[in-house]
Amino acid sequence: MKLQEVDSRGIFSGYGLPVPESILITDPAEAGAAAKKLGCPVVVKAQVLVGGRGKAGGVKLANTPEEAAEKAEKIYGMDIKGLKVQKVLIAKAVDIEREFYVGVVIDRSSRMPLIMVSPAGGVDIETVASENPEKILKTVIDPAVGILPFQLRGMAGFLSDDKEVKKQIAKAISALYQAFMGVDASLAEINPLVESPDGKVWAIDAKINIDDSGLYRQKKIAAMRDTSAEAEAETQAREESLSFVKLDGNVGCIVNGAGLAMATMDMIKHYGAEPANFLDIGGSSSPEKVLAALNIILRDENVKSILINIFGGITRCDDVANGIIEARKKMDMDLPMVVRLTGTNSEKAMEILADTDLIAASSMEEGVKKAIEAAK
Ligand code: GDP
Ligand code: MN
Repeated sequence: MKLQEVDSRGIFSGYGLPVPESILITDPAEAGAAAKKLGCPVVVKAQVLVGGRGKAGGVKLANTPEEAAEKAEKIYGMDIKGLKVQKVLIAKAVDIEREFYVGVVIDRSSRMPLIMVSPAGGVDIETVASENPEKILKTVIDPAVGILPFQLRGMAGFLSDDKEVKKQIAKAISALYQAFMGVDASLAEINPLVESPDGKVWAIDAKINIDDSGLYRQKKIAAMRDTSAEAEAETQAREESLSFVKLDGNVGCIVNGAGLAMATMDMIKHYGAEPANFLDIGGSSSPEKVLAALNIILRDENVKSILINIFGGITRCDDVANGIIEARKKMDMDLPMVVRLTGTNSEKAMEILADTDLIAASSMEEGVKKAIEAAK
């Protein structure tokens, strides 16, 4: 679950991070008063659940309350990567001397928290990672002992030579790690953490993703979910208990089981195409789930073919087949659909699908190849 910047700021500040004051507004008419209260200059920031708001024009500095009102007016209703801006944060602006990146994620290979720091903050960290990997320092933290003092010194020293600044950076990294652990985050990131000309360190952006599996014990955080700001497809998928991640390709995938879904995506890539999504319909799939999955996939205009890859264990292939038939009846859909069903009741499923225009495949490889061909 992704948190809005305003909520992430609140959490960070609760853990002692230096976060500039801010006021959330839901109507651009409130921007001037908020700016006056905080004191100018302020920064007017779109609250949307995607990165790169700055580049998209969703973050603007304002030197007067009038200017803040004007910029808030512009940012409201803006469309940023498909998400409409409905909330804006007015934050006290900070003068920037240097911008750093500081982030914590779970490192899958060491199965431990990993802190990444870079003196090249502000920009896309992915770009830094691919073009200047030497500018990122990665430190694996053993959660049983926490950050060790030498690790903290190493990270702070990687970002600055100034004694006072290093002290503040070390404190900030330590607080960020505590926040990450404390809210069961899968990612906690400050980009940028800045040093101002007077040598003060500030967290001027805040991003937290929560591990959904931790939400049962994070009631306060769970209540922060902002469905109005999520992509509709994601909200719909969650409500139907489907795990769904939108991607940029054109082969839509409906698969049962996360492992098989990953393998299907890998195979699509292996044969030179790109999957349009990750979609796991789960173990006990009813026809309704297949229908819901199709509904979600068809929202994406990039999708040119659909591959249904089901291994019938607890999931019965005839259930899935019925779901597909029902979906075809209810929906106006002319996309080619490749179906590979194997396992429990697969013969029955094939009978159900026999008199349709669905493209059958007996192996996963065949299914993937046919779906890629059909998407061309
Ligand atoms: P993002 O683009 O979604 O990551 O939004 P950020 O909050 O990181 O803001 C984008 C950029 O706007 C930053 O990298 C800064 O260059 C600039 N910016 C944001 N807040 C301030 C501020 O308080 N003062 C100054 N001078 N620039 C800011
Ligand atoms: Mn940022």
